[in-house]
Amino acid sequence: MTEPRKTRRRAQVLRCPTCAGLVASGSEDFPFCSDRCRKIDLGKWAMGVYRISSPVLDPDLLEELEGNPARNE
Ligand SMILES: [Zn+2]
Repeated sequence: MTEPRKTRRRAQVLRCPTCAGLVASGSEDFPFCSDRCRKIDLGKWAMGVYRISSPVLDPDLLEELEGNPARNE
């Protein structure tokens, strides 16, 4: 899709729910900045309680897991 010229119209700009990047209201993937971010957001919902439960990707927790290998072979 090509535009013959740039429109000077002011677009409303919001923030992408996934990465907090700026998104123009006319964007194809609005309110997400990209198809990727939309899929990421859908993925969060698919995982169910992701938004409610404590953060899964907590840096301290990851460090703890890596520091204490569960496997004792
Ligand atoms: Zn985004």
